[in-house]
Amino acid sequence: MRLSRRFLLDSGVKATITLPLWMQSALARATPGQPPRLSRAAWREASARRLVVIDPGHGGHDPGAIGQGNIFEKSIVLSTAHDLRQALERGGYEVVMTRSRDIFIPLQTRVDIAERHKATLFLSIHANSVAHDPAVRGASIYTFSNHASDRLAARMAQSENSVESLSNPNFRGVSPQVAKILFALMAHSTKIESHLLQQKMVGALAPHVPLLPNPARHATFAVLQSSAIPSVLVETAFLSNPADEAELRTPAFRRRIALSMKSAVDAWFLARQHAVANL
Ligand SMILES: [Zn+2]
Repeated sequence: MRLSRRFLLDSGVKATITLPLWMQSALARATPGQPPRLSRAAWREASARRLVVIDPGHGGHDPGAIGQGNIFEKSIVLSTAHDLRQALERGGYEVVMTRSRDIFIPLQTRVDIAERHKATLFLSIHANSVAHDPAVRGASIYTFSNHASDRLAARMAQSENSVESLSNPNFRGVSPQVAKILFALMAHSTKIESHLLQQKMVGALAPHVPLLPNPARHATFAVLQSSAIPSVLVETAFLSNPADEAELRTPAFRRRIALSMKSAVDAWFLARQHAVANL
């Protein structure tokens, strides 16, 4: 596919959407009429950025799942998010949190925060619940898809999205044809990088916490909808399972989750660095 700078600028694209960093660099250097090229130096520069947005689910009037002992998902995930923030900052990452206290943040605003900061990665943290089956336990990691990977995934997405309806990526002021091309380009790159992050999360969590069977899942989570930023949602454990709930209550378990997630982020950046070095 040929995508010239002139073509994009004429379409008013620059003012209306956030492009991934590598694509911005390529377009900035592109000659009209020529396909964009990305120099090794530009790619390195783009890939050196390490800003992670942590998104603790729910908050304020939205408690999320509620465990047997009146334990709220919104509090558990906030605590895990603070642990993760600390671990990432110690590791030299820049961190932005969509919320750092008990307030309600709309799903679209969470995505907007990540895009406004031009985040490299977006990590949403949640805890699960399935009322009809208290035996189900373990962590799972989700990427975005328009189709859920199974019935459980579909139900999870429904309950996580229940506060609001889904909003679609918006390409205001751009012709439908251009919007289609841009969306395809961005979504493709972001999808590959989201799946890589998901694999790293499964690998990092597996030795330390119980996982659901087939822990790498996909569903229509509104908060994972950014087409520009690789995103995953980690369901840390089930508040509806007594063993998981007991674990979630302990700071040690939450720290284990946070440190495993930090290792996954390290592994993702390392894999990306290798890819860049081999260009
Ligand atoms: Zn949740």
